[in-house]
Order: sequence, then structure tokens, then C-alpha cells
Amino acid sequence: MPETSSPTAPHLLLAALGGTIASTANAAGGVAPALGGVEIAAAAGLDGIWPDLQADFTQVAQVSSANVTLEMLFDVVELARSTEADGVVLTQGTDTLEESAFGLWLLNDSGVHIAATGAMRNPTLPGADGPANVRAAALTALSDQVSGLPASLVFDDEVHDPRFARKSHVTSTAAFSSGPVLGAIGWLSEDALHLPHPPRTPKSPFAGLARPERLSKIALAEVGMGEPEETLDLIAGSGFAGAVVSGVGGGHVPEELLPAVARLAETMPVVLASRTGSGASLTKTYGYPGGEIGLLESGLIPAGLLDARKARIVLNLALSFGLAPAEVFAGFA
Ligand code: ASP
Repeated sequence: MPETSSPTAPHLLLAALGGTIASTANAAGGVAPALGGVEIAAAAGLDGIWPDLQADFTQVAQVSSANVTLEMLFDVVELARSTEADGVVLTQGTDTLEESAFGLWLLNDSGVHIAATGAMRNPTLPGADGPANVRAAALTALSDQVSGLPASLVFDDEVHDPRFARKSHVTSTAAFSSGPVLGAIGWLSEDALHLPHPPRTPKSPFAGLARPERLSKIALAEVGMGEPEETLDLIAGSGFAGAVVSGVGGGHVPEELLPAVARLAETMPVVLASRTGSGASLTKTYGYPGGEIGLLESGLIPAGLLDARKARIVLNLALSFGLAPAEVFAGFA
């Protein structure tokens, strides 16, 4: 198995956005982001791996996960485009880490890998996991094995393909998963990256495009038992540029919702995803009213391999870049 360490002095850029990994006690009686990249990296003991490591630090923001924006991801990509570093580690809150890692996977055309990570236990707690996660992310970002991969989500010594990873537990230090079938694509042990089957990475539809002036507003509606049609009608009348319907199972809605789905699809592009969170949404299995065959025939766009949260990002970027959503989503089938 190839080792990750470079024999010559490696150069790392750590871009920090805040989150639990950066949090210390605050006046509200809880914790809040306060630490910068220098302190975060110091705790990871990177000089124990690379005594001559050259490290740069950029504080892109100092926010909780919920306040991370797509605009910040564009900022991180601009850093990757302009850096002379061999790899980038992004630290941020875990609550939206899956969105950031996937956004970076879509946007990072710099050729410099970005490994996104965070922490479940803040630095004031025993067993804080941030330092080990940063160490693992640095080992990943600086590895030759990730060349050609725009981004990864590195957590709990596992490496995930951002197209499939999700946060699936509120507090566990093993909070990230790529679903029951795929799983992680690699792991770290003994300060080495093991990536026996690097993913074949299709070219992002957004690679090489200039940053759009404005991003779009996309609604996301998860459908469940007894879902009222008003949810979809409110979206149809609220000025969104597009919507994602997260359907049950393979991508289905209750029969009573069909008129509201049709009204919605008349006003904006609507992507149909599965609320299960992993696997590919179906296209040709269920023919009953509310099944995916009829929904797709009525003009909904299949999310393919993407879960609803990721489909929301792709639809936003497609519309913001002025690309046809159906063509963009065809690349994720
Ligand atoms: N639970 C979060 C985290 O892991 C808090 C946040 O996302 O800001 O960082």
C-alpha cells in the first residue's frame, strides 16, 4: 500500500471557517467558534509527521455550520486556485460539512485537493477529536493518491467521497457515513492514507466557470405521510428559482399531491430525489400514481445518485451558472 508522506518539505494551506473544532467556552454558557487555524493545526501535531512542514493559514470565516454559505465555498476555491500549497485542509462545523465537501467537489478546479474536516467534541472536552481529524485530513490533502480528486470529507480516520457522505449522528465521533452499500473510500492508519480504490471522478459541470454574480434560491421539501399540498403551493408562489422534492423511497409522493406537484413543475425546475439518503433515485420501476415513472413523465428531473441536500446545491449552481438543470443532473445519473 503506498504511503502518503512526501520525502520533500510539504506545503499545506489550512482554511478555517469555525465550527466545533474551533470552539471555546463563551459567555452564553456554551461554546462558540473562536480558535484560528494556527491553534487548530498546532493541536494536530503535524510537525511530528513533517518536521519541515510549510503551513499557511487563512481564516475564511469564524461561524457555526448553519452560517456557512456557498459564497464561502467559492472563497475557499479561490484560495485553492491561488495557493502554492500542495494541498488544502478546510476546517468547519460538522452540521453542514457534507454540503461544503460536496460544494468543493463541484467547484474546485484548481488541481489542489481540498480535504474537509471538523470535530464532534469541542477542544474543551476530554477526547476532543479535532486534532486527529486535522491530522488525517492533512495526510489526505498532501497525498499523491488524491491527485485528480477535487475534494474529500475526512473524518474519524475515514475518507469519504463528498458525493455520498452525510452526517448521520448528532454526537458520535463516527458521525459521517456514505451509506450502507458504498461506505468510506479509504482510511488512515499509522499516519498513512490507504485508498485502494480511488473513485473515478467525472468532470464537474461547473469546473472552469467564472463565479456567478448571484446565487439562486432553491426550496427543498421532504414529503412524508399526510403531506399537505399547501407546502408545494407555497413554494410555487414564493419566487424560488427551483425546487427539490425529497420523495419517499425511490422518489414517490402521495397521490393527492400530484396536482400540486404539477403546479409546482409549471412554475420552476423541480428535481425529484429520494429521502432515504443513499442509492440512486428510481426512474422506471413504479407505475402507480405518485410513483417515479409518472412524476418524471410530468417533467420532474431525476436527482440520480444525489441525495436531496446535494441536489439542492447542484440545482442552485446550475441555475446560477445559467446551465440547463436536466443536462447537469444527467451527469449524476
Ligand atoms: N455541531 C457542530 C460542529 O460539529 C456545530 C457547528 O456545526 O457549528 O461543528
